[in-house]
Amino acid sequence: MRICPHCEQEFEPKRLNSKYCSRKCQYTYNNRKARQKRLQKKVENTNTIENLNRILMRNRNILQKYAGQTITVEQLQQESFNFNYITYFQKLTGKRKRTGTAFFCYEYGYQIINGTTVEVTSRQLKWDALEGILKIEDQN
Ligand SMILES: [Zn+2]
Repeated sequence: MRICPHCEQEFEPKRLNSKYCSRKCQYTYNNRKARQKRLQKKVENTNTIENLNRILMRNRNILQKYAGQTITVEQLQQESFNFNYITYFQKLTGKRKRTGTAFFCYEYGYQIINGTTVEVTSRQLKWDALEGILKIEDQN
């Protein structure tokens, strides 16, 4: 005698490896399990994206606070700024005053100078209707 995992009734297995009392129970059980798995994955993905957005938004708000200022890496760390998350980066070429890389969280960006100093900048965000993308207005 075995117990069917779907209907939880005892049954006499027809074959050595039969797990369910009937095909119907087998299908129903497996479908339900697959659906639960899909739902679980959906919840996990939603949480991941929400957390990602939360981190980016917090980073942005921290940068907004210091826009136009020169601060230190430590100051950002104290504010729980997460250096692992940016929305984009921009390589600054030789034509500009500075070279290196500027990192952005939406319209606020920063550049680390000499590994300790942080220059916080802001850019104007503009919606490019033709390309359907958000563009950053260049200032220099
Ligand atoms: Zn059953």
